[in-house]
Amino acid sequence: MLEKKMEGINTNKVIEEFEALTKDAGGVQRETLKKILEENGSAEYLQNLGLNGKTDPESFKSCVPLVTHKDLEAYIHRIAEGDSSSILTGKPILDMSLSSGTTQGKRKFVPFNDELMENTLQIYRTSFAFRNREFPLEEGKSLQFVYSSKPGKTKGGLGAGTATTNLFRNSKYKSGMKAIQFQGCSPDEVIFGPDFHQSLYCHLLCGLLFREEIQSVFSTFAHSIVLAFRTFEQVWEELCNDIRDGELSSRVTALSVRMAMQKLLRPDPELADLIYKKCSGLSNWYGLIPELFPNAKYIYGIMTGSMEPYLKKLRHYAGELPLMSADYGSSEGWIAANVNPKLPPEMATFAVLPNIGYFEFIPLQDNAECMHKEPKPVGLTEVKIGEDYEIVVTNFAGLYRYRLGDVVRVMGFHNSTPELKFVCRRNLILSINIDKNTEKDLQLSVEEAGKLLAEEKLEVVDFSSLVDVSTDPGHYVIFLEISGEASEEVLQECCNCLDRSFVDAGYVGSRKVKAIGPLELRVVWRGTFLKILEHYLGLGTVVSQFKTPRCVGPMNNKVQQILCNNVAKTYFSTAF
Ligand code: AMP
Repeated sequence: MLEKKMEGINTNKVIEEFEALTKDAGGVQRETLKKILEENGSAEYLQNLGLNGKTDPESFKSCVPLVTHKDLEAYIHRIAEGDSSSILTGKPILDMSLSSGTTQGKRKFVPFNDELMENTLQIYRTSFAFRNREFPLEEGKSLQFVYSSKPGKTKGGLGAGTATTNLFRNSKYKSGMKAIQFQGCSPDEVIFGPDFHQSLYCHLLCGLLFREEIQSVFSTFAHSIVLAFRTFEQVWEELCNDIRDGELSSRVTALSVRMAMQKLLRPDPELADLIYKKCSGLSNWYGLIPELFPNAKYIYGIMTGSMEPYLKKLRHYAGELPLMSADYGSSEGWIAANVNPKLPPEMATFAVLPNIGYFEFIPLQDNAECMHKEPKPVGLTEVKIGEDYEIVVTNFAGLYRYRLGDVVRVMGFHNSTPELKFVCRRNLILSINIDKNTEKDLQLSVEEAGKLLAEEKLEVVDFSSLVDVSTDPGHYVIFLEISGEASEEVLQECCNCLDRSFVDAGYVGSRKVKAIGPLELRVVWRGTFLKILEHYLGLGTVVSQFKTPRCVGPMNNKVQQILCNNVAKTYFSTAF
């Protein structure tokens, strides 16, 4: 029965393969490193490091240094300029991915090649096989809020787009997605449309037209799903009109998109009435998604890390429908798959696929860097449960001992491969003197303040921060966009709560001795964070890969400006 539904891939076989790979994760890692170094041994980068054809982990580690993106920029620049010699990889790189840059403020080029495409499909297949065992899909479609960036070129003529755009454009992607029953319901013209607002509207419309067939709701990152249904709240009546009349709203002006959509539309007053009735009957949009898509089995997308703040809203829209967190990777390459789909997103773990790269882990416990020691990474199978590590990647796309900048915690093992929890980006975002606060610390503090707002039936729509050292002493500034009007008292209490909720000893100590000034809360007007998203879209980011910058440093001048120009109210903490 299952096999019939799963035309394309045999999920049992995928699971068996994964079990075999992970039973001997150590051996597979050695083999994978050997393969990477053999395939790319002729690359200038490796040649210069004197590996001389050696492919064992010990020689690799002694010859090849740990690097960050900055160390590779000169090489990547040459590739992007069109130098087709073997620079980082044996075979020339033909495409570049532009990482979203929303985490670190700066967009980075990273190589993209066929191997990354294969890795993507392997990751998707693996997590799908496990997911489908618990939550089998029936024949149908998926409502996917995905968007493609404008196809660009580097100076040297290489293809350049976001990593997801590179995937969507790859011929293997579609068949790969079909095999795992992951066919979107929107025409390509919508995904590749020139304006994201119009594409989002059409995705919603396609979802409604195919509502009975929709089996899952997806976006790469959960933020886009929340954004989509927030938008639905605004445009639902217009969508109903389009369905009733069989005519697309004039808000969609892109010709290609109009033509593709018009082919799907015909007057359907019955469907329009049904949706109208359902929407009118909902209390505060709770359970909207299952109401609209009665056969959906789950909602799927990355919901961990910087996406966690959107979970509350997503759960509200999802009602009883399960939320399933998608896999762990980056523009640089994939790392791990979610093979425990039953875990709620807050507890989601990712099992490393030992054949898609060679992975090392820098222990964060011994704080080597603070003690000015050279970090000593351990191997994939040497990590310890409960400990935190920074992840180091060597892969088939020209990255060797590359520090990704993410912190992960080992939660357990699947056979002999670790199951990781994403903790945060490594870089501290808030630090004035001895205080150290990461994105996660900020998130927890905002969550606490969010509880005070929830008592008033309000919610945090989005947030960001900056360190203001123009005052003496310097202080933290937190920007909140709130779903409605809160009273002065509540906002002052939120401000105090934000200040009190940073528990880092360096911060608390500095606040007590006034080496850090009172935290400042700046409440911004509704729609401010949408302006930030639009700013990034203007730079070529895609909505589905967007992550709100949680701290706006000097690299993020423009975003800082948007935030500062949209402040409605300001409060200073009276805590401490
Ligand atoms: P990008 O720069 O757009 O390629 O984004 C990659 C980054 O997104 C990673 O380095 C992580 O920090 C974050 N990320 C990717 N997958 C996950 C995940 N499953 N959970 C949390 N964060 C993730």
